[in-house]
Amino acid sequence: MRCPFCRHADSRVVDSREVDEGQAIRRRRSCAECGRRFTTSETMVLAVVKRSGATEQFSRDKVVNGVRRACQGRPVDDDALQKLAQRVEESIRSAGLAEIPSHEVGLAILGPLRELDGVAYLRFASVYRSFSSVEDFEKEIADLRKAMAGTAEDQESERAGDD
Ligand SMILES: [Zn+2]
Repeated sequence: MRCPFCRHADSRVVDSREVDEGQAIRRRRSCAECGRRFTTSETMVLAVVKRSGATEQFSRDKVVNGVRRACQGRPVDDDALQKLAQRVEESIRSAGLAEIPSHEVGLAILGPLRELDGVAYLRFASVYRSFSSVEDFEKEIADLRKAMAGTAEDQESERAGDD
């Protein structure tokens, strides 16, 4: 990494820390020639392969933008969207692959979104899974009800366990 001030090729790392919960490393460097300091950042490469075969860098912003559309008029704030995007990124990165197909990103969004807001989830799923009939919605809503009932039961039994 060349010094941005004098273009010298050699620098010394003076500090190195993990940021973004270990997803990136930021290094403070000191130029061996001019002594000035600069910061570099290393991130694990994660590319999304689109249906066309083109690849692009995974971006949390894209996840947020995609989900935000489904959340219009819903009580979901930006903070919740950021957290969702972070969960999506973590679950994708945990697979340890450098490239993932774009539909897997969509899949990784479905779970956390369903927990966040049922209506937004149905909107997102209807586009993502290309629902073509009312029956598709009915089936998805039935599954959603079952999942929500399951969550409520879990919370019930957790509460019962506290006693
Ligand atoms: Zn320098």
